Amino acid sequence: MISMLENLLSESEARKLDALLEGANHIIVTCHVSPDGDAMGAILAFSHYCWRKGKDAVPMVPNIFPDFLKWMPGAERVRIYERHETESDAVIAAADLIVCLDFNAPDRLLGMKKPVTESTARKIMIDHHLDPSDFCEWRVSRQDMSSTCELLYRILVQMDGLEPLTYEEAVCLYTGMMTDTGCFSYNSSRSEIYYIVGQLLTKGIDKDKIYRNVFYSYSPDRFRLLGYLLYVKLDVFPEFRASLMTLTREEQRRFSHKKGDTEGFVNIPLQINKARLSVFLREDTERNCIRVSLRSVDDFPCNRMATEFFNGGGHLNAAGGELSCPMDEAIALVKKALRQYAPLLKGEA
Ligand code: 5GP
Ligand code: MN
Repeated sequence: MISMLENLLSESEARKLDALLEGANHIIVTCHVSPDGDAMGAILAFSHYCWRKGKDAVPMVPNIFPDFLKWMPGAERVRIYERHETESDAVIAAADLIVCLDFNAPDRLLGMKKPVTESTARKIMIDHHLDPSDFCEWRVSRQDMSSTCELLYRILVQMDGLEPLTYEEAVCLYTGMMTDTGCFSYNSSRSEIYYIVGQLLTKGIDKDKIYRNVFYSYSPDRFRLLGYLLYVKLDVFPEFRASLMTLTREEQRRFSHKKGDTEGFVNIPLQINKARLSVFLREDTERNCIRVSLRSVDDFPCNRMATEFFNGGGHLNAAGGELSCPMDEAIALVKKALRQYAPLLKGEA
């Protein structure tokens, strides 16, 4: 079948990427802190690609990834930087190529930022976030892509064709596309996405099983935490078509919270009739700050609100930030933001 996908890289970009990969012997494949399905899908798909080409590649994440992604093929080979800093520093220092996937700036590497930016290895970035910084010599940044995994699929297939793409690569790429689009419920109306899904299915992947692996994997504690949040901690502001959930450190202890347990919770209140914005505040358990997550539907600009009020940024419908103040002050700030954005929230602006 003739591919309906246009080549995403120019001839010269493709040649340069090919030369960089060809010339590399020790490759680090990395992604942003607190990796999600797209970040893990991208680093694992790329690592499998390197391995099938006989290259030494190490998938490395800045900190731990959630349990619901541990089933992914190759996950057992992922090195967690903050668990073995000194050894990992040596691995990074020995690398001649660092592949940066699903993030746009070295700050998103936390503790890994220093060894990566100080490394003399060549660096490339493949990403779909806004405002990429220029710490890599070769970069593809496409905000119109649903996910880094979609972008990566298109690059790998442009380079080598579909035929050599393996089952493992297909599983990883599908996982990233599925998770970054909320199971194809947002950022997912371009027909190419479903063409790619169709092509990935020809590799024998079981998309229903992948869905269950990721989403039907709650621990009893995580399930009860969700129930508690929705019943006790959800504040709905119908006058602003918005809602707020908060989670303290004490509550996280009470529900034996593990990293990634609250992933996706912020999306749920958007299911309320007429809701346009959902805000989630969570006291960080590793650092002394409150993590802010914003999700919206339609044209409400979460990124503008995150920049203006929460020291952050992000996409139109998904943004985040950080506050270093007590929870009651953070809640007051959210309410102030809601009042200021009332016309936009109500769709009157
Ligand atoms: P999440 O709510 O999942 O933590 O973040 C959603 C999106 O918001 C991320 O994909 C990222 O683009 C953006 N984001 C999250 N936290 C920050 C932050 O602290 N600073 C900036 N600039 N963007 C963030
Ligand atoms: Mn992504």
